[in-house]
Amino acid sequence: MDKILISKCLTGENVKYNGGNNLIKSPFFDRLKRCCSLVPVCPEVDGGLSVPRPASEICGKKVINTKGEDVTAFFEKGAYCALETAKENNIKYALLKERSPSCGTLQIYDGSFGGKVIDGMGVTGKLLSSYGIKVYNEEKIDLLCKDIFKSKIPKNIITILSTLKSKGYEGYLVGGCVRDILMGNVPYDYDITTNATPEETIECFADYTVIPTGIKHGTVTVVSDGKNIEITTYRIDGDYKDSRHPEAVKFTRNLENDLSRRDFSMNAMAMDKDGNIVDIFGGEQAINEKTISCVGNPDTRFKEDALRILRCLRFSSTLCFDIERKTEESIFKNMHLIKNLSAERIFSEVSKLVSGKDAWKITERFYDVFCEFIPEIKVNNPKEISKKIKNSKDDLYIRLAIFLENTDSDKILKRLKTDKNTAKTVKMLLENKDIAIKEEKKDIKFLLKKLGDKDFFAFLDFKCAIDKKDYDKAKSMAKEILKRKEPYRVCDLEINGKDLLNAGYKNEEISKKLNELIDMVIEEKIENDRKKLSELIKKTSE
Ligand code: SF4
Repeated sequence: MDKILISKCLTGENVKYNGGNNLIKSPFFDRLKRCCSLVPVCPEVDGGLSVPRPASEICGKKVINTKGEDVTAFFEKGAYCALETAKENNIKYALLKERSPSCGTLQIYDGSFGGKVIDGMGVTGKLLSSYGIKVYNEEKIDLLCKDIFKSKIPKNIITILSTLKSKGYEGYLVGGCVRDILMGNVPYDYDITTNATPEETIECFADYTVIPTGIKHGTVTVVSDGKNIEITTYRIDGDYKDSRHPEAVKFTRNLENDLSRRDFSMNAMAMDKDGNIVDIFGGEQAINEKTISCVGNPDTRFKEDALRILRCLRFSSTLCFDIERKTEESIFKNMHLIKNLSAERIFSEVSKLVSGKDAWKITERFYDVFCEFIPEIKVNNPKEISKKIKNSKDDLYIRLAIFLENTDSDKILKRLKTDKNTAKTVKMLLENKDIAIKEEKKDIKFLLKKLGDKDFFAFLDFKCAIDKKDYDKAKSMAKEILKRKEPYRVCDLEINGKDLLNAGYKNEEISKKLNELIDMVIEEKIENDRKKLSELIKKTSE
């Protein structure tokens, strides 16, 4: 998240010369607070002046107050304090109070104390600016927001948007990347939308490698700086079949039409290359209110594509947003449509959903939705499952294991077409769930031997959640065992299979004996010493 240096009085703190403040009342300030972290400074107070204090103005090279005192040194000290703070926080932008003898960026009072304003900068504004920090005043806060947004767009994306514009077409970033930028997050990828048809887009990028990815649906991929960038023509979806796919898509030259077909208001915003936001359906307000609401009629949206139900729950879980009442009602009304979706699409959403910070809330409120595609979990108590999820790490395997307790998890995960590693880890967690954790060194070593070090820690995290205990002692003991390289595996023994073979052991006897030996070492019945172990195997083979 970008850090912005800001005049403290603009944030509402009473640090002005008269004891008041200059709190900004602008929706752009809400935007700034949401997508940046503010670092407030008051150079005059930081420079050693009190609140209240006589007003000051710049007269030539000095700063003089209404008592005629020279306060230049205080102003300079405060300016350097602000610069230090900016450097410490790697700050590139500052939002300063206009016309202040400290913070002014374009104008200041002329030094006559007669209210006359002249062009000029305050002491701090000037110093910050001379060190390359871009200074803005509260009257230009919209410009600051735009510049911050613009700075989030990678160069190759700006080039693509500029190319479209230079050829006479519109080009916008759209969807999740705009939402992420408005929330101060770094987008994972960037989707571009345009009023150019796919053929026109291909013509615009004649000098690039262009892949006609999904030309029927309006998408072409332009390879720019080695990266694949998808550009999709504004479109209106036709009727949907099976709550999954539109029968046909129609291209449109109108951005609003394109945005109106999108799922949630927070995902239905567009941004141009200069950081201007197009927000027709209240997306930014939804972000401010941390609410997810459908664009238009939720029933229509969910009937078009039932995956949107799971997407809605996923966003709520990962972003910690509430779901708006009508959207929530519609989820319950249309949840039966989820069965029309492919297992892969379901699992791709569910895996993100259950790993989210608020997965416990979703579990408690929307358990019936999960039961639509995993009816086997009806045997469990939603409140109990939710509590365990709340206690657990944001980890897919642990969360899935909690969901699938008391079920035939293998069968369910196979049906959901999960990858092998997921199925294997969940199975390991559930198979061992009744093991009692004894916080004794030898027991920890036996468990490490049984599960392996990676699974051991995942298992312990799972047990913490289901037993509602912390098992911190067991964790630190295991870490210590690993750090000190204490023996707990057959391969840690000072003798190996070859030694047993030489001592006359055969085939399966070898691994059986090695296991017995490591168990003895763990139980401290014998030292892990080559000589002593060799003597022992000789004795027992005779
Ligand atoms: Fe506001 Fe700057 Fe004056 Fe402090 S020095 S009161 S922050 S304008």
